[in-house]
Amino acid sequence: MRRELLERAEKERSFDLVVIGGGITGAGIFRRAVASGLKALLVEQRDFAWGTSSRSGKMVHGGLRYIKQGQCKLTYHAVRERERLLKEYPELVSPLRFAIPVRRGEKLNRLLYKTGLTLYDLFAGRKSHTYVENSKSTIFGMRQDVEGFYTFHDAVTDDAALTLHTIKEGISLGGIAINYAKAVYWERSGKIKSVIVKEQETGKEIEFLTQTIVVAAGIWSDMWDASIPLRRLRGSHLIIEKKIPLEHAVALIHPHDKRPLYFMPWMGKLLLGTTDIDHFDNPNREPAIDRQEVEYLLEALNFWFPETEITSNDIISTYSGVRAVLFKGKRDPSKETRDHILKVYDDGIVVITGGKLTTFDYMAKKVVGILHRFLSVKKGILKKTAIAFTPPPEDPVEAILHAAREGLCLHLEDIMIRRTRLALPRKDKGFPALERAKPALIKILNWDEARWVKEIEAYQKTLKNYGLPL
Ligand SMILES: Cc1cc2nc3c(=O)[nH]c(=O)nc-3n(C[C@H](O)[C@H](O)[C@H](O)COP(=O)(O)OP(=O)(O)OC[C@H]3O[C@@H](n4cnc5c(N)ncnc54)[C@H](O)[C@@H]3O)c2cc1C
Repeated sequence: MRRELLERAEKERSFDLVVIGGGITGAGIFRRAVASGLKALLVEQRDFAWGTSSRSGKMVHGGLRYIKQGQCKLTYHAVRERERLLKEYPELVSPLRFAIPVRRGEKLNRLLYKTGLTLYDLFAGRKSHTYVENSKSTIFGMRQDVEGFYTFHDAVTDDAALTLHTIKEGISLGGIAINYAKAVYWERSGKIKSVIVKEQETGKEIEFLTQTIVVAAGIWSDMWDASIPLRRLRGSHLIIEKKIPLEHAVALIHPHDKRPLYFMPWMGKLLLGTTDIDHFDNPNREPAIDRQEVEYLLEALNFWFPETEITSNDIISTYSGVRAVLFKGKRDPSKETRDHILKVYDDGIVVITGGKLTTFDYMAKKVVGILHRFLSVKKGILKKTAIAFTPPPEDPVEAILHAAREGLCLHLEDIMIRRTRLALPRKDKGFPALERAKPALIKILNWDEARWVKEIEAYQKTLKNYGLPL
């Protein structure tokens, strides 16, 4: 499918819109733009969702903590979006029960949680929170001074799958999206602009003409618009052996800095996140967890679950994502606003970054509305979802082949890290399944032995960023 899309793009050359960036933000804009009648091309420098959109906390949520920070508007929109996505994407977005433990003597916290959760429910238009005494419901291994829990509902998704599905919807509606195609240069004077895109497999540069451009390049956005003071913040996660039989998510306050963390079941294991620190590395390098982050996360876990004793030996894998936030000079990274940054230029260029996975479609609607001001295209509307989501097969070999057959993967790591996720919850990183899948896989992808060896080596190298720091 990728080859056909590339050929079509080269043939058509001229578009109403070029979207730079194939994370959830670009994907949402692409889908809405195509549905609204625009001829749109999306280009992604690596794989779709390679950036932050496959490395998030996986929650479709309002963000309770933003209420505490006074960012009620952000929470309101996110809660409304959560409710809508639950209805529109039931196969991709599922309800997730949360418990917030309350320790003895935490009177103020209890009041704060109650107020926050009441507002949360008001925004959603339904009551989901309740308080449960610890004597009635306990969480295995949790500290003895927990006297009760607030429980409420949020939602969870597979961020990479949501991104890819959104892109596929845009394609099914007639749009063109190409991964491993990097925008390297633009010429933006005049009504018709040009974007030079380098196809990463061949190195070939192709010029596309367009009336409007959306830069949805996440932490790379300031490379296109230096006027945005971006702060890059890294959040890292641990995937841990399921030593605690957790059925739902738990919100945990870190004992040192009082930051909220979450701990939840994920793909048969437990997911703990996240840190929030400045990320000064080159954005083109895979982000990875450092030793202090591992210690920080384990410290919180062992504070709340002292009986279980979780150590680094229980960590199966790790992953880190980098957020783009507007630099407002706060000392504490967690105090910087998580709202999106939107810049609209008179010549039809729109730059959008930051925000949340949860609000991707809210941002998309806003941006597509703006784009129509620059174009004289008859506006169409997106009628619910365009195509049904097919979950990957449970059998790992079948899942690998299913991803390869879909025709958008170029490398082994696309299949193992973002499509099947076999790299993350399994100690064996999916290698035995890969060996079994190999004969059929190399046929589907048209690879010879030399390419296979190269792909395995590259996958092993990438995996180093998903493990413990050396
Ligand atoms: C640790 C962490 C946890 C989070 N948890 C949650 C959560 O639980 N719930 C929630 O709602 N939100 C969460 N977020 C926020 C959410 O993940 C991000 O807001 C969202 O993924 C950003 O998507 P994006 O498309 O803007 O950026 P990205 O996903 O980074 O996409 C940008 C893309 O642009 C591409 N690109 C860059 N330059 C070029 C170029 N020149 N040509 C072509 N392509 C280019 C990149 O390769 C990249 O794929 C979290 C964020 C972090 C960091």
